[in-house]
Amino acid sequence: MSYNAQSDQKVLAVRNLALHSGQVDTTAFNEALTIMTRLNEELLVVTQSHDAALNRNTFWGADLLSQVAERLKEDQETRKLELEELKAAARRSYERLKELNLGDEALRELADRDPELDDPVLLDAPNFEQGRSECSVCGFFGWVGYEATGRGTAYAELDWRHDDEYHFVDMTIEAVQYVCRVCGLSLGSDLLPLEGIVDVREVTVEATREEIEALEQYQIEQYLMEEYHRDR
Ligand SMILES: [Zn+2]
Repeated sequence: MSYNAQSDQKVLAVRNLALHSGQVDTTAFNEALTIMTRLNEELLVVTQSHDAALNRNTFWGADLLSQVAERLKEDQETRKLELEELKAAARRSYERLKELNLGDEALRELADRDPELDDPVLLDAPNFEQGRSECSVCGFFGWVGYEATGRGTAYAELDWRHDDEYHFVDMTIEAVQYVCRVCGLSLGSDLLPLEGIVDVREVTVEATREEIEALEQYQIEQYLMEEYHRDR
């Protein structure tokens, strides 16, 4: 799901306003309707994989379906426009930078300065590799920022040589940001797919104290359960 806590909450703002005062600002309403349409479409992909009967046709109905398509197309075009504006601004700032005649080596150094976009928890993930993606404006490599979108439960791994036990959890992370340090192009999660930056993967991090305790509690319960059945 591409639900964005900041921009997509307009849906709730409009609903609250309508509920409490019977007022609706048509611009805000329009924007909210577009967001809701997009979120519904994404939900439908999920629900359809569980229940084939609930598809777009049954959900929207034939009359609404064409309006939905129209609205999504408009939404897509608005995003494309927004992306083009950001790129134009980045292009101008890159032009100014080139006037300083810094040379490729200096620009590459500039590009490589880590903007520290990632969720701090990822710094401890041994199998996390920082995503870099070529900038479509200046051609240097920008940085992809990730956010954890899912976290599993703790599991133990034994180090036989030292007889030590380590606890880990697997996390799902997603690309949510892009920043180029050279031209300054900076993109939020809703514009990333337009630039072909889509990255969802699993990484492993050390489990927290609470997660280890939850695992131990679970193991105790399992043990007691087995004992109970053995005694019967
Ligand atoms: Zn750039």
